[in-house]
Amino acid sequence: MVPKSKIDEILDGYDTSDITIATLCSHSSLQIFHGARKMGFKTLGLTISHSTKYYDAFPLAKPDEIFRYKDFDDFEERIGELQDRNTIIIPHGSFVEYMGPRRFAELPIPSYGNRAVLGWESDRDRQRQWITSSGVPMPKLITDAREINEPVMVKYHGAKGGRGYFIAMDYPDFKMAIDQSQPYTIQEYCLGTRYYLHFFYDPYKTDGYRCEQGGSLELMSIDRRDESNIDEMYKLGSIEESRRHGLYPSFVVTGNTSVVIRESLLPKAFEMAEAIVNKSYELFGGMWGPFCLETVVSDKLDFKVFEISTRIVAGTNPFISGSPYADLIYPGLSTGARLAMEIRDSIQQGHLKDIMS
Ligand code: AMP
Repeated sequence: MVPKSKIDEILDGYDTSDITIATLCSHSSLQIFHGARKMGFKTLGLTISHSTKYYDAFPLAKPDEIFRYKDFDDFEERIGELQDRNTIIIPHGSFVEYMGPRRFAELPIPSYGNRAVLGWESDRDRQRQWITSSGVPMPKLITDAREINEPVMVKYHGAKGGRGYFIAMDYPDFKMAIDQSQPYTIQEYCLGTRYYLHFFYDPYKTDGYRCEQGGSLELMSIDRRDESNIDEMYKLGSIEESRRHGLYPSFVVTGNTSVVIRESLLPKAFEMAEAIVNKSYELFGGMWGPFCLETVVSDKLDFKVFEISTRIVAGTNPFISGSPYADLIYPGLSTGARLAMEIRDSIQQGHLKDIMS
């Protein structure tokens, strides 16, 4: 990982009255640029091959400039251009995934958040260790496929966004579908309603929902993902029946919808998020800024967290002009704007370096 001292040195050379906020053109970039502009920053879109014409359709979210690269090698070679513009990058899921977490970790450019979290998020075993040692329940792991006696979810390592997952009902089912040449994990299939909780941890805020770490936890919004084709599969009858016709469920995210959870679930949601934040400080120096707990709630009203995303998620996109939760903290503010507000305030209060890595 790029040494923190190197990032601090780069920031020492920055004119903090003229910061540019940059991100990769995809995922939640509309929201990030819109929020950055709202807080008075210049904006810069970075793109390898992604079409950017769609920004013309959204003038309030169109970046001031766009840099086009041949590939990520070209991007790394031209990093000086970003430093010349006093650039801070905002990582999002696609940025880290397309570039690869290892490569992203080495980028010599200030990035919002703690890059040490990448090693914990991208490794399923470490992620499980972090979440479960916080006391937060996760789906049970099945280590021996012969012991499958309830529906399970099989996830190939490196599978992302639900592509490369399958459901097995029992061992013969598993055997029929598994590709043994790839590493995989098997976990309990959690039947229930999915909620993706978008939190923001501000280590400097001294009011609101206070955490042991001294900062404050905010719930900005909640979404549910639309996943193709599982969400529409019921229309064809049972999964068994569909399989007989060669149709298998997949979990590829195609969109997001806004949801709220019953109010009595909120205390538990905050307790889980707080425990995970507290543990992050113990394990790797902390996680601050936006993160998402991907959960399933059973009919007993128990949460299980099946994954954590440690940066802005695309599920925050329905909330560019606020959410039922954000409106009770900062009316009309998106997570993208909340991020930019954090950077603006840190510059004003003289601790920008502390939220960058
Ligand atoms: P992920 O890549 O972990 O975010 O998972 C993609 C999708 O697969 C989720 O949004 C859920 O719909 C589904 N999923 C993942 N893990 C489980 C699980 N243990 N039980 C039920 N559904 C799951």
